[in-house]
Amino acid sequence: MQALVKTKAGPGNVEICDFPEPQIKDDEVKIKVKACGICGTDMHILHGSIDSSPPVIMGHELAGEIVEVGSGVKDIKVGDRVTSETHAHLCNNCLYCRIGYPRYCVERKMVGRHGNGGFAEFFVTRGSKITILNDKVDFESGAITEPLFTVTHALIERANIQAGSVIGIVGPGPMGLLALQVAKAAGATVVMVGLSKDKDRLELSRELGADKILMADKDDVEVEINKLTSDYGLDYAVECSGSPKVIPHTLSLLKKMGKLLVIGLNGYRKVEISTDHIVFNGIEVIGTVGTTATAKEKALELLRTDKVDLKPLISDVLPLSKWKEGFDKMDNKEGLKIILKP
Ligand SMILES: [Zn+2]
Ligand SMILES: [Zn+2]
Repeated sequence: MQALVKTKAGPGNVEICDFPEPQIKDDEVKIKVKACGICGTDMHILHGSIDSSPPVIMGHELAGEIVEVGSGVKDIKVGDRVTSETHAHLCNNCLYCRIGYPRYCVERKMVGRHGNGGFAEFFVTRGSKITILNDKVDFESGAITEPLFTVTHALIERANIQAGSVIGIVGPGPMGLLALQVAKAAGATVVMVGLSKDKDRLELSRELGADKILMADKDDVEVEINKLTSDYGLDYAVECSGSPKVIPHTLSLLKKMGKLLVIGLNGYRKVEISTDHIVFNGIEVIGTVGTTATAKEKALELLRTDKVDLKPLISDVLPLSKWKEGFDKMDNKEGLKIILKP
């Protein structure tokens, strides 16, 4: 089968290869991949800025149809439309596995990075890692349920977003636009913050329900937020920009006892913040990654009841053969979510 493979470590070394079709074991299922999203992690694997285990088929944001089910797998049948977890290996034994936070497993290996992924005709995984998609979710949207699961866990389960609160989302990329929809569904007032170069994304965030849109290089963000909050500031700020320079400013937009939720990655660059500001203002800083079984249920319900729509986030759908075009767009920060179809 045709697959997009990281062939060797280091920068580059990614190409379409003929790869043997995977076979299933008793506890596994085989998926005909219908759509797989390009994620920031894929860009890091391409550029060699994070480790991977080549040769490995890339792609972890996948959706497809079940074509084969192992004899030991229950409740999944041929023809089911599904998505998969991003774990290629979990120990199922450590504290984090046992308490339902597999993303923090001490032995976790990742799909599309350490184990074969979804930029291929077929993908095989354990039945226990499958989520069945409801009829509301088409394959392209299904491919980006994984970031929605992450955002739902972050906002609803970690930050515990409350109805009637005011939340600022900094960075109107795919994660920010998902956070916006989940926050609106939770009953919050949302201020979306970007730059003037994000004009199109900010316009989309208005269509998706943002109550206020601010351009940090044009508007006085602090003044505008103070106007909205009787000078108190935001209840929550969600950092999705990944910019070390922006984070100290975001922190200053919070009211006392406000929460800063960090979900954007910045490549381990240092951020200069005053911990005294955090102490004297009772600020809570929350970092989070991955998801839980309960957040997945909530995210699927948000999709089923039309409270979240993933389609507007999909800017490009390309055949797998045009992967380079998609990756170049990601590199140039063009488009939003780019989907490859094997
Ligand atoms: Zn991803
Ligand atoms: Zn574990």
